[in-house]
Amino acid sequence: MLETFEFINEDFPWFFSLLAGVFGALTGSFLNVCIYRIPAERSIIFPGSTCACGRPIPFYHNIPILTWLLLRGKASCCGAPFSIRYPVIELLTAVLFFWVWTIHPPVVALLGMVFIAFLICATFIDLDHMIIPDRFSIGGMVLGVVLSVAFPALHQIEGPAVVSNIQSGVTSILGALIGAGLVYWIAVLGEVVFRKPAMGEGDVKFVGFIGAFCGWQGAVFAMFGGALVGSVVLLPCLLIGRLFGIKARIPAESQAETGVETGVEMGVESAAEPCQEDVVQFGAQVPFGPMLAVAGLIYFLGFHIYVDAYLADIAASFFGQ
Ligand SMILES: [Zn+2]
Repeated sequence: MLETFEFINEDFPWFFSLLAGVFGALTGSFLNVCIYRIPAERSIIFPGSTCACGRPIPFYHNIPILTWLLLRGKASCCGAPFSIRYPVIELLTAVLFFWVWTIHPPVVALLGMVFIAFLICATFIDLDHMIIPDRFSIGGMVLGVVLSVAFPALHQIEGPAVVSNIQSGVTSILGALIGAGLVYWIAVLGEVVFRKPAMGEGDVKFVGFIGAFCGWQGAVFAMFGGALVGSVVLLPCLLIGRLFGIKARIPAESQAETGVETGVEMGVESAAEPCQEDVVQFGAQVPFGPMLAVAGLIYFLGFHIYVDAYLADIAASFFGQ
C-alpha cells in the first residue's frame, strides 16, 4: 500500500497534487454550504442543496466550478443567477489544497487542508456578517491542539513518541495563548489610543486558532502581517469598491429580523433584494478576520521559513545567544 503510494508519488509527482486540487474543489463546494448555513444556524447536512425557487439541485448540476461555467452562472430550473462567489471559493480551495500538498509532506498537508478550510469559512462569514462563529475560532483552536498532540509533524517536531506528542501539544497551546494574548492587548491599547474598538473579541479568538495550528510565530505573523495585508491590499480594494459602487450586499429586511442573511438561499443570489447601502465604509468597521486569515495562509504556505528564522534572530539578539 505504502509502496504503491511512494511509487506513484515518485513517478507521477503531479498525480497526488492534482488529486489534492480536485479534493479541494469538492471541499470548496461544501464550504459554500457552511458559509451560508452556519450563520443562519441551519444544518449543513440536511436538506441537500436547493435552488432559490425551492427545487433541489441534482448532483450532476452540483459539480464544483464546472457547473457554474456550463450553466453560465444561471440555475437550470428557473434561470436565477448564481453568485460568482461559489465557483471562486471552489477554485480558491482547489488551488490552496494543490499548493499545500506540493510544499508540505503528506501528513502536514492534510492537516493544512483542515486549517485552510476553517480559514476560508471564517473569512467569508466574517465578510458577510462581521462575526467569526465560535465553532471556527474556539472550535478550531481546540482542534488545532488535539491535532498537534496527535501529529507532532505539524510543528516540525521529531523524536520519540509521547515526548514529541507532549512537546507538540505545548507548542500549540502556547501558540494559541501567545497569539490571542497579543491581539487582546493590542486591541485594548488600540481602543485607548483611537477611542473606538479596533478589533473584536472574535479576532482575539481567531488568532488563538491560528496560533494553535502555526505556533506563536505564526500567530505573531498573522497579527502584524494581517495589519500589513490590510493596509496594502484590502483597504485600497474596499476604497475602489466604494468609489465604483461595488458593495457588500446584505438584505436589509432579513438582517433586521435575524441578524443573518436569510434572503439568499444556497446557490442562488436573488437580484431584487433590498440592499443596505453603506455596508463597507472607509474608516468604519472593516472585518479584520479576512486579513488575519490571509496572513495565516501566507505563513503556512511557505513564508514560515523566513518568519521563523527572523524571529529566532531577534530572540537570539535579546537573549544573547
Ligand atoms: Zn430554481
